[in-house]
Amino acid sequence: MSYETHEHDVLIIGAGGAGLRAAVEAASNNLSVGVVSKSLLGKAHTVMAEGGIAAAMANVDPKDSWQTHFCDTMKGGKFLNNWRMAQLHAQEAPDRIRELEDWGALFDRTPDGEILQRAFGGHTYKRLCHVGDRTGLEMIRTLQDKGVHSGIDVYMELTIFRLFKDGGKIAGAIGYWRKNGEFVVFKVKAIVLATGGGGKAYQITSNSWECTGDGHSLAYEAGAELIDMEFFQFHPTGMVWPPGVRGLLVTEGVRGEGGLLRNNKNERFMQRYDPQRMELSTRDMVSRSIYTEVKEGRGSPHGGVFLDISHLPAERVKKKLPSMYHQFKDLADVDITKEPMEVGPTAHYMMGGVRVDADTGASTISGLFACGEVSGGMHGANRLGGNSLSDLVVFGRRAGAGAAEYARKLAFFPTVDKNELEKAAKDMEAPFQRSGDEDPYQIHRELQESMQGLVGIFRTEGDLKKGISKIEELKQRAAKVAIKGKREYNPGWHLVGDLKSMLTVSEAVAKAALARKESRGAHSRLDYPNLDEKFGKLNVVVSQKNGEMNISTSPVPEMPEELKNLLAENK
Ligand SMILES: Cc1cc2nc3c(=O)[nH]c(=O)nc-3n(C[C@H](O)[C@H](O)[C@H](O)COP(=O)(O)OP(=O)(O)OC[C@H]3O[C@@H](n4cnc5c(N)ncnc54)[C@H](O)[C@@H]3O)c2cc1C
Repeated sequence: MSYETHEHDVLIIGAGGAGLRAAVEAASNNLSVGVVSKSLLGKAHTVMAEGGIAAAMANVDPKDSWQTHFCDTMKGGKFLNNWRMAQLHAQEAPDRIRELEDWGALFDRTPDGEILQRAFGGHTYKRLCHVGDRTGLEMIRTLQDKGVHSGIDVYMELTIFRLFKDGGKIAGAIGYWRKNGEFVVFKVKAIVLATGGGGKAYQITSNSWECTGDGHSLAYEAGAELIDMEFFQFHPTGMVWPPGVRGLLVTEGVRGEGGLLRNNKNERFMQRYDPQRMELSTRDMVSRSIYTEVKEGRGSPHGGVFLDISHLPAERVKKKLPSMYHQFKDLADVDITKEPMEVGPTAHYMMGGVRVDADTGASTISGLFACGEVSGGMHGANRLGGNSLSDLVVFGRRAGAGAAEYARKLAFFPTVDKNELEKAAKDMEAPFQRSGDEDPYQIHRELQESMQGLVGIFRTEGDLKKGISKIEELKQRAAKVAIKGKREYNPGWHLVGDLKSMLTVSEAVAKAALARKESRGAHSRLDYPNLDEKFGKLNVVVSQKNGEMNISTSPVPEMPEELKNLLAENK
């Protein structure tokens, strides 16, 4: 068979903040760069980011420094973070923000005309640069503009389905146009995965439709290692009512601007759980606290708690949180300048992902790089709010440079094996050849229910084992799904591929969670409720061995003395 084929030195899979920043960097090396995205350019999930981007600019709190940002990030991640990533991130984030500004991003300002910064959970100082509560939109608009003027080729509404290797090196990828289902082949020297997270494996999530963990799954199938998969962040504040919008994010910016959390007894219940930091405690802590309040009967009418910002002047609320004002007015008929919101935890962010080299974004497979939410290590056991957007630009740039350098050194394009290509095309077609009544939507629903119920905020060995056997059953059923019709405009067929990714991600999360017999950050085991020093020195690693998912551990990289001292001083 012949297929539409494109050749690029570097192919970036994903057009969110990480992918676009990587593309700009790779293109600045005079290489041919392609960017693929499941959604339209400008619509990647990053566009939904609200509260801000963290960087120690010290515009509002002059005492802030990269050192404090580093310490906050490590503490938030319960010291499981890759220290080198946390260091580079804290050191480079301010430059990446100034660069965004040079490229046209307009952040909110202090009266002196500096970039304004707001408070966020777990950050010692006011550190989040923002554009109201629409920071992601401004970031994507800026990076998209810069990207298209850097000469990149963009393939929108195209889903990558499989990666190819040649003797251990990345050689290419195959995907399909979502519109007409036609297959497309990419022959490349290097690939940067920037595919974001996989929240759609959960029933209640803030994530958009494209967050199905494809990059995690593509990397895993290509033989790369994943780390920290047990750490799935539940953001404390998602909408809980009405049912159609359950899970939709209520930005931490609400608490950053002074929003108060109360239960049905009108108590500021965070007093019980973290009296120092209260509403601005870390996300893992606030989520568990809300969950406990609801479980113990002190919740709001629709199974959440109350978040109240109505004590601030209405005009200030509308100026600082315009999207939140409209979100609640339009979707729930609640005027947040006058009455409290009802909120509860929502599956939000994957700390786990492709194991990468901190400096270059290189994965454990030659020619395969990763950045942004699909990569692991930076955030350890729990991410601080605002540290994702800064992660995207710091490590997007580094992975783009790493891939460009790798590609420049390859004299020839590796070969995509014809048989592997045909096999991939056959696998993609397979659901049309099958008969039977397995339905991808039903399987997806069952997966979401079991991840929510058995692999959620609080975990036990019994639940995790049940979750793993359910995933096994669903994998077998997913392999039998039959799709009717043709490849044109066929969302059921698209879901078959997405399901495969979500099942891989879910299996990795559940199996890694079973292996970590302690509670740390976003991973809470009711049967092992304490931190265990032994596990504090280990990353759980997921990889494929002989077609099976293999779980092992590896030591957390040793931190240099000067950083250890810094942490000791900042206790
Ligand atoms: C509502 C909300 C608000 C948030 N607010 C903040 C905030 O204020 N501050 C902060 O730091 N973080 C925030 N986050 C987290 C942050 O937005 C994300 O972690 C981040 O945007 C992820 O960026 P990314 O570039 O890694 O991936 P994404 O922006 O998710 O982009 C992934 C890209 O990969 C493409 N893709 C995926 N699979 C495939 C495939 N198989 N083939 C081709 N293309 C593919 C997608 O189409 C998309 O273009 C928020 C998250 C949510 C949900």
